[in-house]
Amino acid sequence: MTRKATTIDTARVELLLSELRLPGVKAIWPKLAEQSDKEGWPAARFLAALAEHEAADRKRRRIERHMAEAKLPAGKTLATFDFDSVPMVSKAQVMALAAGDVWLKAGANLLLFGPPGGGKSHLSAALGLALVENGWRVLFQRTGDLVQRLQVARRELALEAAIAKLDRYDLLILDDIAYVTKDQAETSVLFELIAARYERRSLLITANQPFGEWGRIFPDQAMTLAAIDRLVHHATILEMNVESYRRKAALDRKRGRGRPAAHATPKENAKAGD
Ligand code: ADP
Ligand code: MG
Repeated sequence: MTRKATTIDTARVELLLSELRLPGVKAIWPKLAEQSDKEGWPAARFLAALAEHEAADRKRRRIERHMAEAKLPAGKTLATFDFDSVPMVSKAQVMALAAGDVWLKAGANLLLFGPPGGGKSHLSAALGLALVENGWRVLFQRTGDLVQRLQVARRELALEAAIAKLDRYDLLILDDIAYVTKDQAETSVLFELIAARYERRSLLITANQPFGEWGRIFPDQAMTLAAIDRLVHHATILEMNVESYRRKAALDRKRGRGRPAAHATPKENAKAGD
């Protein structure tokens, strides 16, 4: 090989890679080039390795961005969710939902009902996390906070744009929809949002009360019915009618302090398992 053919202006290569927005290639190419030279790779193999690396790097960075924008509460994962506490929820069904393909592509919804402390927020955040890991875009919001923001947008005559901006999320998680306050209910921003996403983009909604109590959330009964109608048309509903996990955990701790479970009499054991 002639000297001329092997002399490369490294600084210029780096500059070009920056300009071309190929940070993955820029980071890896010196190392890969060295390996390629040492092992005598064909040029096509070197190029393929660079391209694969850039693609994987981009995917990783994209998921990192989606993770940050999702605003998920920390530490709530499917791995730390105790499915035994919620026997009416099938783990297999939740795992299938975590893949996202079927329902998010169809813009279908997921509704989680149950009393406080039953794990609705945990499960919805954990599902959101799994979906982001699987490449979907998710936003987790306390419904009251989001409604507040949409009301501000409405006053500024920018409600439509604000709702359109939420289209980027394959899944919008509205936690605690029944906590929308009376003054918020007097405007219809929540209805506008539900109507805009209908059959296009998915919603995951959690609520302490099933539909019977939703009259408070919307300005009037016709709108309440119209909202419910759209929400349930393509929806999976999970009823999590269990005792509060917080309360149960506190009781278990108290029992544990009183007497270690291993030393409890059989009668007491049977009672604890009720
Ligand atoms: P909800 O939203 O239904 O009121 P949360 O999801 O906030 O209930 O649950 C209350 C607390 O109990 C949270 O700290 C949550 O992580 C925990 N928790 C609830 N259910 C479970 C469960 N099945 N497995 C593990 N932790 C749970
Ligand atoms: Mg909650």
